Amino acid sequence: MTSERPVVLVIEDEPQIRKFLRASLDAQGFSVEQAESGEQGLVMAANRRPEAIVLDLGLPDLDGVEVIRRLREWSRVPIIVLSARAQEDDKIRALDAGADDYVVKPFAVGELLARLRVALRHAATADGTGAPASIEAGELKIDLGARRISVSGKEVHLTPTEYRLLAELAKHAGKVLTQRYLLKEVWGPGYVERPHYLRIYMANLRRKLEADPAQPRRLLTETGVGYRFNLE
Ligand code: CA
Repeated sequence: MTSERPVVLVIEDEPQIRKFLRASLDAQGFSVEQAESGEQGLVMAANRRPEAIVLDLGLPDLDGVEVIRRLREWSRVPIIVLSARAQEDDKIRALDAGADDYVVKPFAVGELLARLRVALRHAATADGTGAPASIEAGELKIDLGARRISVSGKEVHLTPTEYRLLAELAKHAGKVLTQRYLLKEVWGPGYVERPHYLRIYMANLRRKLEADPAQPRRLLTETGVGYRFNLE
C-alpha cells in the first residue's frame, strides 16, 4: 500500500515549513521526501524520482530558478514553487524556466494541495499521447484536432491568433503561463515585450467564450504574471 502513495519531494531550507508540509502532505496521502538545499534536492530528485516537487525559491546554496533549470535538463516532473512576496520577478523567472505553478508565502495548505493535484493530473495526461484531442470545460468545448470551438453546442468563430492563444492555454489547463511564454508561443520571439497584444486578445476570447466576460470562469488572469485556463 505504502508504495502507491505518490512521492512528493519538498526542497525547503526552513525547518518549520518542512515540518508543516510533511504533516499536511502526509495527511493527504502523499509520501514526503525532504531536502534542505538545492544540491541535496537535485540529488534526491534523481535518486527517488518523485511524482512532484515543491521547491522554495530562496535556498541557501543555489538559486531556486537554477534548480528548476537543472531539473528540466532531464525531467518533466511537476514543480510547484514556493515564493515570498518580495520575489515577484523570481516567480516569473521560475515559471519561464519550467516550473508548473507557484504558491506565495505565507500560503494556505489547501491552495498548495489544489495546485499539486492539478499538476499531477496534468502530468498524468501529458504522459500518454501528448495533449488530449479535445478539452471540455463546462459549456465550452475545444476540439484541437478539428480546430472547432463551441459554447453550449453553438460553434464559435475565432481568428487564427485567437485560436492559437486559446489552444496554448487549454493544452496547459490548470497551469499558469507567463505573458512572455504566451507572446513567444503565439506571436513569436520578437513579440515578448508586447503584453498589450495579450490583453486585447484575451478580452476578445473572453467576450466570445465567457458567459460573463467581466467575471471570467475559464480564462483567468494571474495578476502581474500571466494567464491560466481553468477546467474546474
Ligand atoms: Ca527559504
